[in-house]
Amino acid sequence: MHSISKGRVKRILEAINAIGYTKNGMERLAFTKEEQEVKNLFTKLCLEENMEVRVDEVGNVIARREGVRKNAPAVAIGSHLDTVYTGGQYDGVAGVVAGLEVIHRLNDYHIETEFPIEVIAFTGEESARFGISTIGSKAMCGKLPLSSLHTYKDKSGVTLTDAMQQAGLKLNDVPKAKRSQSELKAFIELHIEQGPELENKRKSVAIATGIAAPTRFAISVNGMSSHSGATSMELRNDALVAASHLVLTVEEAARKESASKTVATVGVLDVFPGAMNVVPGRVEFQVDIRGLNRQSKERIVEALFRSSAVLEKNRGVTIRIEKLSDEQPVLLNKEIQQMLALSCEEVSIDPLSIPSGAGHDAMNMAELCPTGLMFIPSHKGISHHPLEYTSIDDLIKGINVLEKVIRRLAMVKERNVAT
Ligand SMILES: [Zn+2]
Repeated sequence: MHSISKGRVKRILEAINAIGYTKNGMERLAFTKEEQEVKNLFTKLCLEENMEVRVDEVGNVIARREGVRKNAPAVAIGSHLDTVYTGGQYDGVAGVVAGLEVIHRLNDYHIETEFPIEVIAFTGEESARFGISTIGSKAMCGKLPLSSLHTYKDKSGVTLTDAMQQAGLKLNDVPKAKRSQSELKAFIELHIEQGPELENKRKSVAIATGIAAPTRFAISVNGMSSHSGATSMELRNDALVAASHLVLTVEEAARKESASKTVATVGVLDVFPGAMNVVPGRVEFQVDIRGLNRQSKERIVEALFRSSAVLEKNRGVTIRIEKLSDEQPVLLNKEIQQMLALSCEEVSIDPLSIPSGAGHDAMNMAELCPTGLMFIPSHKGISHHPLEYTSIDDLIKGINVLEKVIRRLAMVKERNVAT
C-alpha cells in the first residue's frame, strides 16, 4: 500500500513539474500559460478520480467528491500550483498532490463520506509576479481589492487586470468567486515548512498554531556626509553607524522574544552616497517583525523607538520611522489542531506545534471556516529556490496524517470503514 502510494505520488509530482521546468528552477507564475497548463493537468487528474471539477471566477480550480448528505458543507483540502521565478518543485504542489492522493485512496477503498470533500488548487498564491499574494483565496473570501487590481504590474509592465483578462477571466465576475461560510465545513492545507525546524528536530509533521503577520517599517537615518579623511571621529554624524546600532537593537530585542517565537529581520539597507571615502550621510533600511503574539511584537517596536531617540540625542542624526504595514496574526482553530494531533498519533507521528512565519492560502480560508495548516519537512529549510526538496517518504507521512483528519472531518460512513 505504502509503496504503491509512493509511486503514484512521485509520478504526479513529476508530471506537474514537467510544466514550467527551466534549468534555473520552476516557473509557473500567476496567470501565465504555464499556470493555466498546470491547472488543466490538475483538472484532468481530478476527473480521472471521478470528481466534479469547476473553475471559479478568479481561476481557482475546485474539484469535488460528493458526500452522502446532499447539500452538506464541504471539507476542503487545498494549496497552490503557481511558483515564484526560479522556484522549487514542492511549495504549494505538495498540498495539492496530497489532496489528490487522499481522494485516490478513498476511491480505492470505496469509502463514502457523509460530507463532500473538495480539493482546491488556488490561483496566484505567490506574490512574485505582481507583488500581491494569495489572489485566489483572497477572492474566495471576498477580500481581493478589486478596484486597485490595475495598479499591480509585473516587471514587463503588464497589469494584473490585463493578465487576468488574458487568462480568460471576466473582471466583473470576480466577486462571484466569494463563497459563503455555509459552503465549507473545514479547510486543511498541507505545505512544506520552508524552514529547517522539522528537519533539525527530526520530526515529520508540524501543526501550525497560527500564521504570523508582518509588521513592517521603513526607516531613514539622516546624518551628514563628509570627507572620510578630513573629518575627525568626534565631528561625525555617521548615518550608517547609527543605523547599525538600530539593526543590532532589532536583533537583540527579537532574541529576547524567543519564547513567543517572534522574529525580526533587517533585509534591506541602502547607504548614501555610498562611497568608500565619504562618511555616510543617509541610510534607508527596512524592518520586518513577525509573530503570533501582539505584545511580543510591540516590545520589539518599542525597543526600536527607544533606541532611535537615544541615537538622535547622542549622534546628531535624525531618524524617521514609517510604518509600512501592521497585519493581524491569524490564530488557527484549536479543535482542528487537536484533530490533526490525534491523526498524527494514529499514524505514530509525534508532531511539533509551531507558528507559520510565512503567509499561506490557509490564512484567508481561516476567515471562512475552521482551518488547519500542517507542515512537512523542507531539506535545510530551502524554499523559493530550485534546491527546495522534500522526500517522497516525508510527503507520504504527511498524506497519511491528512487522510486521517479528512476521514474524521468528512465522517466516513460507519458501515464501510476500511483501511
Ligand atoms: Zn506556498
